[in-house]
Amino acid sequence: MNIILLGPPGAGKGTQAKMLIEKYGIPQISTGDMLRAAVKAGTQLGLEAKKYMDKGELVPDEVVIGLVKERLQEPDCEKGFMLDGFPRTVAQAEVLDRELEAMGKSIDHVICIEVPNEELIARLTGRRTCKECGAGYHLKFDPPKVDNVCDKCGGELYQRDDDNEETVKARLKVYQEQTFPLIEYYDKQGKLRRIDGVGEIKTIFERITKVLG
Ligand code: ADP
Ligand code: ADP
Ligand code: ZN
Repeated sequence: MNIILLGPPGAGKGTQAKMLIEKYGIPQISTGDMLRAAVKAGTQLGLEAKKYMDKGELVPDEVVIGLVKERLQEPDCEKGFMLDGFPRTVAQAEVLDRELEAMGKSIDHVICIEVPNEELIARLTGRRTCKECGAGYHLKFDPPKVDNVCDKCGGELYQRDDDNEETVKARLKVYQEQTFPLIEYYDKQGKLRRIDGVGEIKTIFERITKVLG
């Protein structure tokens, strides 16, 4: 099963992806996680990407497309994959369609998680992320068992540089202008599955698995 998780920053893509990959046994491909790993490693690509990420802007298409193309060639993608945070522009979606076609593959479902802006701001400004494994938590909505410690790996939690209110607002604007058009793009292909993203984390998971089967 080849899936795309679409939706604004804070919609719960990462949270749901972590649960879905366990159920379906396919890898999560998160361009945000890949870019943050490059920043942490201090590579040239990471240094370049960080300039955009800190402003809440999108990293140039060629950079993320290069990362995803390589990742899709890995053997663990043979049984399927879950793209989280990619594509984010129509240009990225078009390249993805072409690449997959050349590989004899295609996207099965585009899960679009819908959440109103006020809720997104509350979710993102209270988000905490594990330094080690990237797992996401929320101070109020999904706290770890022990303050500042990851339940899964014991890693320390931190607040992402781009999860402050000002950058969050910039990211929501970028979503509206550059990513929102993908909803129509995939609707025309008959692949769009809209999911109400407000409610308990496990309720949203049930809504998604009902669609995926
Ligand atoms: P969130 O899930 O909270 O929206 P991500 O971790 O997906 O955040 O992305 C963080 C940042 O990484 C984005 O604001 C953007 O700068 C960059 N990024 C991630 N994915 C892409 C992409 N597909 N295209 C361009 N930039 C991206
Ligand atoms: P995305 O990957 O789409 O940016 P995340 O999965 O990181 O979003 O979720 C953003 C924040 O909202 C995190 O702090 C997460 O714990 C929290 N969150 C996720 N799903 C829900 C939900 N259904 N209700 C409340 N908070 C949620
Ligand atoms: Zn962790």
